[in-house]
Amino acid sequence: MWFINQEVEFFKLRFSSLDKEGVEKLLCMHKIDCQQITPEEKDELKEELHSSTSKITNVDIVEFYKVPFRKVTDLIKSRKVYISQGIAYVPHTDLVSVFVSHFRKNMQNGMSHARLSVSNVCDDERIISFLDSLPGYFAGMTRVVWTTTTTPIDKLNELSKSSYPMCMRVLHEALKNNHHLRNSGRIQYGLFLKGIGVTMEDSMNFWKTEFTKKLDVDKFEKEYGYAIRHLYGKEGKQTNYTPLGCPKIIASSVGPGEYHGCPYKHMDHESLRQKLFSFGLSAANITEIAELAKDWHYNIACTTYFKALHNNRLPEKPVIHPNGYFLESRNIMAKDSPTEVEGKERQTQSSSQNLTQSGRLSDKIGTPNRIDRNSGTPLRNIATPSRSSDRTPTTPMRRIDRTSMMTPVKSVKATPKRIENHLNDDEIAELMSEDM
Ligand code: SF4
Repeated sequence: MWFINQEVEFFKLRFSSLDKEGVEKLLCMHKIDCQQITPEEKDELKEELHSSTSKITNVDIVEFYKVPFRKVTDLIKSRKVYISQGIAYVPHTDLVSVFVSHFRKNMQNGMSHARLSVSNVCDDERIISFLDSLPGYFAGMTRVVWTTTTTPIDKLNELSKSSYPMCMRVLHEALKNNHHLRNSGRIQYGLFLKGIGVTMEDSMNFWKTEFTKKLDVDKFEKEYGYAIRHLYGKEGKQTNYTPLGCPKIIASSVGPGEYHGCPYKHMDHESLRQKLFSFGLSAANITEIAELAKDWHYNIACTTYFKALHNNRLPEKPVIHPNGYFLESRNIMAKDSPTEVEGKERQTQSSSQNLTQSGRLSDKIGTPNRIDRNSGTPLRNIATPSRSSDRTPTTPMRRIDRTSMMTPVKSVKATPKRIENHLNDDEIAELMSEDM
């Protein structure tokens, strides 16, 4: 009850900021039984309306609404409303009472429903661990996970199989197969690589190696080199972009021939199953993940994928960021085989500093934007999300050999990489607009 009362107070506060048009929109949206009286009715009841609403000096300039009396018991209790034949005549200024009773009823129903749902799923460890972590969930969304460890590019193939979330594994695979990724894919994957500690020089070499299998070096330098340096804050406004989080990736639009986005959201059911099959997941895991994705539980599907690839171990924190997924994976592997994962990555969350390459505060970073506001970055709107080219898996189903995945990530130095926590959407949009 305490919680509902606080929410009601908060609702009243928000309601007070609405103008007449906003209130009417709200009435319409919630189909609340509340009808404005006609000028003739108002003339007829003018005296009663005036005497029942002491605060209103001129009833002619105030709108009145007809509402069933049971919806405004608080106004009746304080004798603030005129009632006739079971109908209360509520001035526009007191309409909040109508909404409060509607809001309170919805909250009570919602709370009962939530209580029932929690008791139904209390034996599901994925849900319980997710609910346990919920208090830190939103705070976590404002933070960017970054690593202090350098990741060499010759390990990316192995890491993509062992420690990448599926969104990044799909991008890595598409890049390797096609020797090209479209702009949105390059931004999503390029920033992820930056976040896991791939240096700008390595990143440039990595993209160049793939792209120049199809085009010459000069063309690459001219058309793509700039964008890669831009991601690292070396071009344009020199903004240090942060790796994209799940909300932004999930909210993106994906068109034909594009591989960015979240596979649980953007791949059609069959393509997702086939992709998971090609990754060697068991039939039971494939079915579970595909069903979760179908029911829009993308982050839980991602957690289930993590569990399948980590010997049934769950990440310590909910998966809300691909770079968080990566570090959870490396932490588990470091615990299992500390000698294999040399210089275990430390999960560090930066929430208030703009770090440059050398770890100093950057003065070139503009107005800070929180990462959880990033879901609005304008990605191109192409309707068809299907990736038919992904539908031909050839790898036989098998459990992934974890020993082959425990790739050591060499710790070179502990200097913080320049991953800060503010993303400038305008500049990302600028990059997005020059698709190549
Ligand atoms: S839930 Fe997040 S980390 Fe997992 S695949 Fe989707 S976008 Fe990537």
